[in-house]
Amino acid sequence: MHDIIIYDTTLRDGEQMPGVSFSPEQKREIALALEDAGVREIEVGFPAVSAAEIRMMQDVQASLSRSRMLALSRVVKSDIDAAADACADLVLLFIATSDIHLKYKLHMSRQEVIDMAVEAIEYAKDRGLEPSISSEDSTRTGPEFLKEFLKAGVEAGAVRTGITDTLGIGTPEGISSLVGYLKKEINTTLSLHLHNDFGLGVANAISGVRAGGRAVAVTVNGIGERAGNVSLEQFVSAMRFLYGAEMGIDTSRFTEISSMVSEYSGIPLPRNQPLVGYNAFHHESGIHAAAVLENPATYEPIAPEDVGNTRRISLGKHSGHHIIRAMLEREGISVPGSELDRIVVEVKKEGGKKGTVDQLELIEIYNRVHGLHES
Ligand code: MN
Repeated sequence: MHDIIIYDTTLRDGEQMPGVSFSPEQKREIALALEDAGVREIEVGFPAVSAAEIRMMQDVQASLSRSRMLALSRVVKSDIDAAADACADLVLLFIATSDIHLKYKLHMSRQEVIDMAVEAIEYAKDRGLEPSISSEDSTRTGPEFLKEFLKAGVEAGAVRTGITDTLGIGTPEGISSLVGYLKKEINTTLSLHLHNDFGLGVANAISGVRAGGRAVAVTVNGIGERAGNVSLEQFVSAMRFLYGAEMGIDTSRFTEISSMVSEYSGIPLPRNQPLVGYNAFHHESGIHAAAVLENPATYEPIAPEDVGNTRRISLGKHSGHHIIRAMLEREGISVPGSELDRIVVEVKKEGGKKGTVDQLELIEIYNRVHGLHES
């Protein structure tokens, strides 16, 4: 599991999230931050969308020095031409394969779908692009047809094959058995593009790579269509810290990149967002906070710095002398008992008014009380 390819699609699937629109400059910045963090494949856009999209992709490609740029493309010549114009390294060709998509969306037969895909792969190669072929709605496609479709793609020259859980209906067991089944027959890098409709995106991705999948599509903060995609931070951190699989990605950049994408996308993070959220390493007054002050490992699964986050300890109206003294001592402040009494009263008062008192506010209270004592 150590040579998993992470391909980030924040700029493509992430941007398809309703209401999200990144400027070309923001896209370049996000791509460079991802490259810097060690993400080696970045799906930057869908070049067939517009001439502006192509220009943006050319610009991002010119800025990247170590990472490869991927482009999404339907299995039609004009899309592939646009991907070539955008200077993509790898073109992610896709077409739906489920009966429901064939009947109600494509109005095509299974054989027509295979023929179109094969033709597109050959054309992409002619245009000097590395083709990947993905089936859309794979989890509602009969496994045998899925296998036949992907095999035809590999025979036509696809360097990568992909399955897509378009509706996020896969289960860890289902993705595992589907990947295992396909791996037996198809000898190429298998990629996974999974959605999070039931909150199972990360679990399904882990299950998929354990069964032999080698590439995983992720987005920063898990943004994307509907409930979004597999989160970069959660998948890579789970693989690194829980499964011991390194991917060459600097996880300490995650909180910073997450904040950037949250700001540019206009999608605020929930406080309890795993790993990168404000509360991910936030301890309230009481038993937890006191234990964390003695040894953070009591209530932290990893160090906050491992994902670039910060430890926060808040006090409140239930905080007592012990924890308040310990928190002041962390700042190098020691106070006599009478002053501590005053500080405890003030902390309880503030905590009662606004819920919590953080480290900075504690220092403000200290300064106030200490000033009174001196004068
Ligand atoms: Mn998607």
